[in-house]
Amino acid sequence: MTPDYDVVVVGGGPVGGWTASNIAKAGFRVAVIEEHQQIGEPVQCAGIITPRVFDMVDFARPSILNEVKGANIFSPSGNKLAIGTDRVQAKIIDRSKFDCMIMDQAMNNGAELISGHRVSGLVMGEACEITVGDKTLKSKLIIGADGAKSNIRSWLGLEEPAYYLNGFGADIENVQMEQDKVNIFFGSQLAPNFFAWMIPTGDVIRVGLCMREGQDTVYRYFKKLFESGSPAATMLKDGQVKKTYAGIIPLGLPSKTYADRGMIVGDAASHVKATSGGGIYPGLVCAQFCAQTAIEALEAGDTSEKMLANYQKTWMKDIGDELKKDIMIHKVFASLTDEQVEDVFNMVSDEETLAIINKVGDIDYPSRLGWMLLKREPKLLKYAGKFLRYGLRGR
Ligand SMILES: Cc1cc2nc3c(=O)[nH]c(=O)nc-3n(C[C@H](O)[C@H](O)[C@H](O)COP(=O)(O)OP(=O)(O)OC[C@H]3O[C@@H](n4cnc5c(N)ncnc54)[C@H](O)[C@@H]3O)c2cc1C
Repeated sequence: MTPDYDVVVVGGGPVGGWTASNIAKAGFRVAVIEEHQQIGEPVQCAGIITPRVFDMVDFARPSILNEVKGANIFSPSGNKLAIGTDRVQAKIIDRSKFDCMIMDQAMNNGAELISGHRVSGLVMGEACEITVGDKTLKSKLIIGADGAKSNIRSWLGLEEPAYYLNGFGADIENVQMEQDKVNIFFGSQLAPNFFAWMIPTGDVIRVGLCMREGQDTVYRYFKKLFESGSPAATMLKDGQVKKTYAGIIPLGLPSKTYADRGMIVGDAASHVKATSGGGIYPGLVCAQFCAQTAIEALEAGDTSEKMLANYQKTWMKDIGDELKKDIMIHKVFASLTDEQVEDVFNMVSDEETLAIINKVGDIDYPSRLGWMLLKREPKLLKYAGKFLRYGLRGR
């Protein structure tokens, strides 16, 4: 019997939508199953991405709310490093609208959206047998784009993320800040082992932080951002919280993102930049490789593990090395004391180094700047030892 679909994509986030869009465009029967009724809700994201995201999803430009050209970066003691040029470095999006526009594109290309239904089981028979409510859908191939806590990943027997970051954020009104810069705060008192942010989107600013600790601790630190004594607190003193969100970020690349008749992509596969927690750009890049492999497998009539192995090869060759390096940079940074972070700030604060940061700095490829800074400032090598100790395992 012919399966109901060629491909079922589980998860209607941006990565699931973009994977489905690319496969449907090639003429295959694709269904996207999303547990929430409304695509893009609830939002669990600060919504900052680089302009190059729109090289892939140009049609989603109407979701752009603001553009930023630089950042004010605050050290643990409150010293400010202002970086930036006239070049737009990042776009701030309405994340809900962004996800919807990608899903609309997928549906325009012929994908079917089944929303408001959760996939609760997977059996590999002659086809992938996917339990959705009291129904079983059959598909030649299943793609797990079901986020950080992916079930499809477990059901396919693939590796879990090495660890998670917990994030908490809020939309805040009544705060004045430069509209073309983000503020970033480092320090063990504000956001141990990661950073806190303020992102301008006009009248509303997005404030948040991530940490390796549990959600309760992250919330406690979020509240500390408003307490006096830090530059963040001074800026946020009259702020009124309008909406909050929480979420998790998976880190640690799995050694395998494919199995017999299945692949995982996006947060489900930890396709995330560990330096910033950003998963939209790497997720969309990997979605294209995932879709390409799916198309080739369906055209060849072979969805075996051996055939799908090409997916791993292609995304690793393109962006995998950068994602591995990002994990190493994150681990080194997370291991520094406040004094050491201050030391690094001092080393990179001179005009020439700032010029390098402004020229080479790229949120999607932070390792490029890392190497340039190491070459420019040999004193940074004392921290590079840790970098090598973590090795190139990517976990
Ligand atoms: C606090 C925070 C801030 C962030 N800020 C940024 C940022 O500024 N920039 C950036 O690039 N990234 C950011 N990220 C990361 C970004 O949100 C993710 O990388 C991105 O959403 C990954 O997309 P995805 O499609 O892989 O997964 P998701 O967006 O998580 O989508 C997965 C979908 O699958 C659905 N699903 C799960 N299980 C099932 C099931 N069994 N059946 C049916 N549906 C299911 C879920 O409901 C969800 O809709 C942030 C994350 C957090 C937590």
